[in-house]
Amino acid sequence: MKRIFAVISFVALTLSLATAQRLPELARPDNYKLTFTPDLDKATFEGDETISLHLLKPGSEITLNAVDIDFHEVTITAGGIPQKAKVTPEKEKEMVVLSVEKPLAAGAATVHITYSGILNSEMRGLYLGKDDQGRKYAASQFEATDARRAYPSFDEPDYKATFDITAVADKGLVAISNQKIISDTAGPGDKHTVHFATTVKMSSYLAALVVGNFEYIEGAADGIPIRVYSTPGKKEMGKFALESAEYILTYYDKYFGIKYPYGKLDLIGIPDFSAGAMENTGCITFREVILLIDEKQGSVNLKKEIASVIAHEMAHQWFGDLVTMKWWDDIWLNEGFATWMETKPVAQWKPEWNYKLDEVSDTAQTLNTDSLANTRPIHQAAETPAQIQELFDGIAYGKAASVLRMLESYLGEETFRAGVNAYLQAHQYANATADNFWEAQAKTSHKPVDKIMPTWVQQPGAPMINVKAQCSGNTTNVMLTQKRYYIDREKFDAPNDQLWQIPICLKGSASGDGAKCELMTKREESFTLPGCSTWVLANARATGYYHAGYQPGAVRALASDAETKLTPAERIVSESDVWASVRVGHEPVGDYLAFAQGLQADRNRAVVDNVLGHLNYIGKYLVNDGDKEEYRAWLRQYLAPAMKDVGWEPKPGESDEQKTMRTRMIGTLGYQAHDPQALAEAKKVADQALADPASVDHELAGGAFRLAAMNGDSEFYDKLMAALKNPKSPEEYYIYFYALAAFGDPKLLQRTLDFAVSPDVRSQDALSLIVGVMRNPAGEKMAWDFIQSHWDAVAKAGGPFASAEIVGATSAFCDAGMRDQVTSFFSAHKIEAAERTYKQSIERINNCVDLKSQQEPQLASWLGQHGTAGGN
Ligand SMILES: [Zn+2]
Repeated sequence: MKRIFAVISFVALTLSLATAQRLPELARPDNYKLTFTPDLDKATFEGDETISLHLLKPGSEITLNAVDIDFHEVTITAGGIPQKAKVTPEKEKEMVVLSVEKPLAAGAATVHITYSGILNSEMRGLYLGKDDQGRKYAASQFEATDARRAYPSFDEPDYKATFDITAVADKGLVAISNQKIISDTAGPGDKHTVHFATTVKMSSYLAALVVGNFEYIEGAADGIPIRVYSTPGKKEMGKFALESAEYILTYYDKYFGIKYPYGKLDLIGIPDFSAGAMENTGCITFREVILLIDEKQGSVNLKKEIASVIAHEMAHQWFGDLVTMKWWDDIWLNEGFATWMETKPVAQWKPEWNYKLDEVSDTAQTLNTDSLANTRPIHQAAETPAQIQELFDGIAYGKAASVLRMLESYLGEETFRAGVNAYLQAHQYANATADNFWEAQAKTSHKPVDKIMPTWVQQPGAPMINVKAQCSGNTTNVMLTQKRYYIDREKFDAPNDQLWQIPICLKGSASGDGAKCELMTKREESFTLPGCSTWVLANARATGYYHAGYQPGAVRALASDAETKLTPAERIVSESDVWASVRVGHEPVGDYLAFAQGLQADRNRAVVDNVLGHLNYIGKYLVNDGDKEEYRAWLRQYLAPAMKDVGWEPKPGESDEQKTMRTRMIGTLGYQAHDPQALAEAKKVADQALADPASVDHELAGGAFRLAAMNGDSEFYDKLMAALKNPKSPEEYYIYFYALAAFGDPKLLQRTLDFAVSPDVRSQDALSLIVGVMRNPAGEKMAWDFIQSHWDAVAKAGGPFASAEIVGATSAFCDAGMRDQVTSFFSAHKIEAAERTYKQSIERINNCVDLKSQQEPQLASWLGQHGTAGGN
């Protein structure tokens, strides 16, 4: 599965008190024959199911998972003797026990079930959605534990079976599933019956069915037909996705050493979709906006996301689908692997987009979450559906991916790939554990992977490596110490005995381009580098999952050499390392700003992105009211040379990186620096885009609308609302949509909040609009009040697991009063499975309050010396 938007946004929430447990080991399925007859008007479906299974021991019971299933008739046949079965629900376990009078012998049996189910509106199981024209469709989303809402099943990942799926659909509706269609015949009545070919052996959560009005474009790669489906009128916007999928499939066939095993590949854009995308075998489903894009006008950022999400889901076709984790506690290996893998094919396809630098930024982001006391180890036990759902978080995706990247760098790309191949070969069409993966990697590499990995997987957090370098003759002695890094400075300064085995790479000012790579296994270790270096970088090559802390003198020396002696990736890690030292009070914020000044001439999009992220943070949280103007002036001055180089308007033939960098810089100038020229340019672009949407590319338009909204009036607001009704692409829709959260006028923001919970907004989008208002300084408190007073509506939006997004968004507050409100509200409105997210939010607020008290005066004095008024 692919989460959407914020790292913290896809943590679970449960409103039920489900405490499902494991199925008893009584039987294992071999094949499911499933016929679904959806009734879109009544929002129900009829199911006819035959499970071929083998009983592991004699007995008179079979237990299956089932939720919201109305059983009509159940017959169990063993030894040629059919018996009607009694159905006893065990609701709290999400199971049913099927029992017969005469005992069943061990061995082959079949269970035939006729039943009805609900096409729910919660975007899970088999659910009902509506496209832009109001046409209804049914779609499935089974991961993690919702297949049981569509068919009674052994709904645990290691009960793999083959599937023969049939859909009985209304005339004119298309049916899509995991396999190719083998027959499509008229009847019964005015319906038609679509039989799909037998699938490979796979887990219950990977079955899929979509029935509705869809059309497609088609291509192929390596002998596999590939289709991109959309609701009517949008298929041409699938071209970029198709081209991506073709490239990626060819790449993966080579990389994995096993050809794509499902015969065909469909990618389907679905208007109502709770996650970002889902890797059902041969039938990947997506939110429309992450699949369909106007190729000419579409933004580079969205194209990058579409390509990498497709690469993510396609990586799962091997890693996750072909070889599946035995139990959900290893879901991190699936998600971490797919997240790590998703940039590989696309970085080769589009080198100009610098995906590899985005990975470095992602690692820095993940380290930020992992530096909280309330983080979790990668490996975590989970039993109930809520606990399982909660595992799909930034640690499972981001941290696991970063750790794999570090491991690949340590072993070498080809050695690591050989380990991946060996693991897939050994466990294809079956299940495996993370230990099986380490064993394969240790065996192929002859390196202590099985010793290194547990230190990253079993314990929470990440270390900071403190670097002390001293020159002696023509050698630099480097003393390294490791200690768990916490943003909470008291915790960081307290004793801590966690220990990691860390693949490190060192590089000094005098050691040229070569890096020295070692495995650090002790708390304190010394290494030497040739030459006499003024600084030594502890994360050369930028693939390490740790922070590095430097002596103040070394930071200054590093800053002045950054542009000439560090790669862009190394500049990104050093910059975030200096920030990490500021956060724990080991360096004043002025040292960070001095480092940023050292990068002022940097024209690398990814580096600029990271610096601006921190400058925006400082502007939002650390500048006191009296210094706001001074800081804004400093920012304008800081960005002036870069703006001069990049220009306000797109130039013919410029790179995609230049385009995204411009938008980012104008954004900071407008938002943080309140720069009159940036705001005027944005208004100009927004007006032009409203008058003629085809005339402005979405890269520029997205940023421009949000800035134009800051000072926008009700007339501008009404224009956005009107434009929202007739967008030419999903991206265009979201440009208008999110601009509604960026207004400065409280009356207009109130309209946005009311609109978010109205029937005009898709359930999956409601919360991100509210969170948008919450992130807007002008709407922060208003959004929070709205959430509290409209909690019933808010908690219902976005599907059963979404309102944790709201819990996560409260982490944007930075004062004790708001923290106390958050605490008292969520104490009264407990969200069982967002407990960790809640604790993290409170911790983030506390950290921010502490940082403010600690650095605000330092910042004021730095601005006094270095601001525009103070000369320099
Ligand atoms: Zn995934």
